[in-house]
Amino acid sequence: MREIINPFNQAVIAKLADATPAEARAAVRAARVAFDSGEWPQWTPEERAALLTRVADLLVHDRSDLARWETVDTGKTLAESEIDVDDVVSVFRYYAGLAVRDHTRAVDAGPGVVSRVVYEPVGVCVLITPWNYPLLQASWKIAPALAAGNTVVVKPSEVTPLTTVRLVELIERAGVPAGVVNLVLGAGPEVGPVLTSAPEVDLVSFTGGLATGRAIMRSAADTVKKIALELGGKNPNIVFPDADFEAAVDHALTGVFLHAGQVCSAGTRLIVHADLHDEFVAELVRRAEKIRLGNGLAPDSRSGPLVSAEHRAKVERHVAAGIAEGATLLTGGRRPDAPELRAGFFYLPTIFDDCRRDMSIVREETFGPILTVETFTTEDEAVELGNDTEYGLAGAVWTGDRARARRVASRLRHGTVWINDFGPYLPQAEWGGFKHSGTGRELGPTGLAEYQEAKHIYENTAPRPENWFATEDDPSGPES
Ligand code: NAD
Repeated sequence: MREIINPFNQAVIAKLADATPAEARAAVRAARVAFDSGEWPQWTPEERAALLTRVADLLVHDRSDLARWETVDTGKTLAESEIDVDDVVSVFRYYAGLAVRDHTRAVDAGPGVVSRVVYEPVGVCVLITPWNYPLLQASWKIAPALAAGNTVVVKPSEVTPLTTVRLVELIERAGVPAGVVNLVLGAGPEVGPVLTSAPEVDLVSFTGGLATGRAIMRSAADTVKKIALELGGKNPNIVFPDADFEAAVDHALTGVFLHAGQVCSAGTRLIVHADLHDEFVAELVRRAEKIRLGNGLAPDSRSGPLVSAEHRAKVERHVAAGIAEGATLLTGGRRPDAPELRAGFFYLPTIFDDCRRDMSIVREETFGPILTVETFTTEDEAVELGNDTEYGLAGAVWTGDRARARRVASRLRHGTVWINDFGPYLPQAEWGGFKHSGTGRELGPTGLAEYQEAKHIYENTAPRPENWFATEDDPSGPES
C-alpha cells in the first residue's frame, strides 16, 4: 500500500494500492475492448456532451469536498483548490459544447465528387498527469478525449492521486459505460512504460517534467503512437519602466510564489529594466518577506508547503548552486523558523539578484519559490533574454506602451504571452509550449483536435473507367 501524505504535516491521509504491470495491461485491454466493440462508439455526440455536462454538475455539487482533498494532498491553499475545481467545471462544460459541433468539412472537388473530411476518435488514449494541479491537468485531457469519443487510461501522479480517483468515480456516476475510463495508480517508472509502450494504445498525452517526456517519447516510438507533451517552463516576466508599478509588482509576486512556485508557467525569471530595478526589487523583497506560509486549510494562509521532502531537497540544491555561481541572495534561501511549520515541507520565498543567463538557477526549472532577477536596457535585449531558454511555455511583458507590448509579445517564443498580466488561461484558448516545453496543445479547439483523426471520404458519384493502363491491342483502350 502506498501512503499518501499531507505535505503540511506529513500525516497519512490515504493508503492506495499501486497497480501491478499486469493490472496496467488489463486496463489498456479494457479500454481497447470498449473502443472496438463496446456501446461507447455508438453514442452520439449529443449523448457524450450530456455525459460531460453531468460530470460538470457533479463537480459543482462536490466542490468543497474536492477542494479539501486537493488541498490536503498538494498543500496548496483552499482558495486555490476551489478555483481549480471551478476551472475544471468550465473545461467539462466547454468540451461538452465542442462535442456537439459538427466539425465535418466539405471540400470542393469539382463535379461528380462529394468530398468530406470527418473527424473521428483516435482510439485508446493514455493520459498521464503531474502532482501540482492533479484535478485540473486530468480534466484538460479527460474532457476533450471523451468529447471526441475515445476511451482512456488515466495515470495520475503517485504523489497526489486523490482527486483523480474522485473524478473517475464521478464520471462513473455520470453514467460512462464500463471500460471507457480506466484508472491506473502507481509509480511512473513502474507502470508508466507498460502504458506508453502497449501496442493497443493509440495516443499518449503527458504532462510533467522534460526528462520524463523524453523517456515517454522514446517508449512510444516503436509503436508509433501519437504524442502530446506538456512539459516544463522557465518563464520570463519582462518589466519596462513605464509599466503600472503596483500591478506589475503584485503580479510578479503571485506569478512566482503562488503554490510555492510549483507551477509550470511560474514567472521565475524577472527581467526588469535597469532604471526600475532597485525600486522594483526592493518592493518585491519587502512583500515576499510578508507572505503568510501555513496550512492550506487555514483561511489566512497565502502559500502552502512544497509537495514532498524530495522536492524540497531539489529546491535546496538549486539554491546552493545559485549561491555558488555568484547570484546575490536577497531574501529566503532557507526553511522557515516558525515551529508550527516544522513538520511541513516549507521553504521561504527566495529572491536572487545579479543573475546571469548562464547560471543554472536561471536555466533549469526549479519548480519552487525561487525568483531570479536579470536586468536589461533595450527592448531587443529584453526579448533576447526572454527567449534565451530551452523552454517556451509562457512569458509576460509589462509596459504602458501598447505598440511595444505587442511587438515584444510577437517576438517572444512562448506558447502563451501575457501583456500587463501574469497567469490567466482560458478553456477556449490553446495552452502549450514552444521548444522543449512540449508538443501539441491542450484547451481550445486544438485541445480537442489532439484526440481526433482526420479522415477524408472521397465519393465518386459518377464512376467510369480511366483506362490508364490501356494498350493498343487491349480492348479496354482509352476513349478517344
Ligand atoms: P514527472 O515527470 O515526474 O511525473 C509526471 C507523471 O509522469 C507522473 O504521473 C509520473 O508518475 C509519471 N511518470 C514518471 N515516469 C514515467 C515514465 N517513465 N513513464 C510514464 N510515466 C511516468 O513530473 P512531476 O514532478 O509530477 O510534475 C512536475 C513537472 O510537470 C514540472 O516539470 C512541470 O513544469 C510540469 N508541468 C507542466 C505543465 C504544462 O502545462 N506544461 C503543467 C503542470 C506541470
